Amino acid sequence: MPHLTPEQIQTLDQLMDARWAREIAEIDAVAARSRDERRQEAIAGRAADRLDEALAEVAQSTDYAIVRQNIEDVRDIAAARKRLAAGTYGVCTDCGAEIGYERLLAYPTAKRCIRCQRERERQEAILPRRGTP
Ligand SMILES: [Zn+2]
Repeated sequence: MPHLTPEQIQTLDQLMDARWAREIAEIDAVAARSRDERRQEAIAGRAADRLDEALAEVAQSTDYAIVRQNIEDVRDIAAARKRLAAGTYGVCTDCGAEIGYERLLAYPTAKRCIRCQRERERQEAILPRRGTP
């Protein structure tokens, strides 16, 4: 991520922190509602390595539709943090180009540059989705 300054990375990291806390709080609220007292355990208190397990439990609940987007966002943030640690954050996973800071500010978890993202959305619009009649 040579194109990002340490200050920019810190700003993006803080954005993801704030979003992470918000998403986890929403998932927790639904999980708390949908579970019985005995099994109730806050996701926020789970260790990161047990996050998938906790999310899988929520996925089985009837409120899954409500938190589906939250869970996807949390996974996106976790993946972005991995890229940050690996030094590949801010680099397009498709073409290897640098992802602009402005785009990252708007979408801190962006995996692709705007060009590849548009191309992908175009492909997805053309290709028939699995499961649709
Ligand atoms: Zn690209």
